[in-house]
Amino acid sequence: MTVRKSVNREMFDDVMVPNYAPSYVIPVRGEGAKLWDQNGDEYIDFAGGIAVNVLGHAHPVLVGTLKSQGEKLWHLSNVLTNEPAIRLAQRLTELTFAEKVFYANSGAEANEAALKLARRYAWEYFPADKNNGVEKNEIIAFNNSFHGRTLFTVSVGGQAKYREGFEPVPGGISHVDYNDLDALAVKISDKTCAVIMEPIEGEGGIVAATQTFIEGVRALCDKHNALLIFDEVQTGVGRTGAFYAYMNYGVTPDILTTAKALGGGFPIGAMLTTTDIAKSLVIGTHGSTYGGNPLACAVSEAVVNIVSDPTVLEGVKKKNLLFVDGLMAINEKYNILDEVRSAGLLVGAVLNEQWQGKAQDFLMAAQNEKLMVLVAGPDVVRFTPSLIITDDEIKEGLARFERAVATLVS
Ligand SMILES: *Cc1c(COP(=O)(O)O)cnc(C)c1O
Repeated sequence: MTVRKSVNREMFDDVMVPNYAPSYVIPVRGEGAKLWDQNGDEYIDFAGGIAVNVLGHAHPVLVGTLKSQGEKLWHLSNVLTNEPAIRLAQRLTELTFAEKVFYANSGAEANEAALKLARRYAWEYFPADKNNGVEKNEIIAFNNSFHGRTLFTVSVGGQAKYREGFEPVPGGISHVDYNDLDALAVKISDKTCAVIMEPIEGEGGIVAATQTFIEGVRALCDKHNALLIFDEVQTGVGRTGAFYAYMNYGVTPDILTTAKALGGGFPIGAMLTTTDIAKSLVIGTHGSTYGGNPLACAVSEAVVNIVSDPTVLEGVKKKNLLFVDGLMAINEKYNILDEVRSAGLLVGAVLNEQWQGKAQDFLMAAQNEKLMVLVAGPDVVRFTPSLIITDDEIKEGLARFERAVATLVS
């Protein structure tokens, strides 16, 4: 029998591909918005697994659901369907514009499905002879957007660094500036099959679409028979205080992608669309072995049922104020920020000129004060905690953040 030494962070570098640089803190347990590491030290978790753990860690209902489903049925593949998958799709279609659901396992895969569907829909309904003689297969996306790490989604994403060295990339994709309607108006044409956007650019620094922009994008898509895809992988499932962020704008997409929070920590993604558009993915055109996995769908159904409760969504809006006011108060004392950009519990503290490029230093200083935060690019400290984090945990976490700021400023 091999006796294994207890695991430590140095071992990570021995056995893992070096594409990540995780902290030296290794959490071993979580409860609500708190985490404990290997030494038993307690942390407040304002990172939430990157906007995933909407109900915190080890939520009793999710644990119970996972256990009971785990004793019944783990996996079938799509050769057979299952009850949790159908029930979750019923809930998602009740709660949104959508009438049809495709399941995947991640945000990138949900976007991959959306982009493939958009191409296939245009190919079927707008062939060149019915489309002013031109092929309709071009996708327009926005600079600084993030849509995932598969080759198609890094190509569509608006950050060239994620494509570097991986070329040749898929063609027929172009990018224009976010919130620049004129630029989109110039680029969009009968060749455009889809425009894909995040209602709020998350990885890009918590930058929200303006109302005029998002309405204008919808109108331009309609004018050119292009599908509008909202990537709500980060903004979805209650994060902004609406179940999906499109509801805040009153602008409805043709296709919506959702993942991250959807499983509360259990991997699942989904693409939502209308019956008419869904028709293009006829039998055999697309698929996923794990998509619609019963464990994932059972947990996700429980997440969706809890988060869609109006009191939970109202709570997100109230907790937003605690974050914004708390961060502004810290800024009054230490003058580190230009602004706080936020929607619900998607919060970005934008560092001022003096602290440009230093977001990672704030993350490290916070961790030293036993607080987990995220960054969104080099200049923004990002907070995406559990949607049911308590007010006391927010206050305690902000007190720790203030101590972290003080160590940097002094
Ligand atoms: C995280 C994210 C993705 C990618 O999701 P994965 O589950 O990592 O594939 C796509 N789009 C947006 C907006 C995201 O925030």
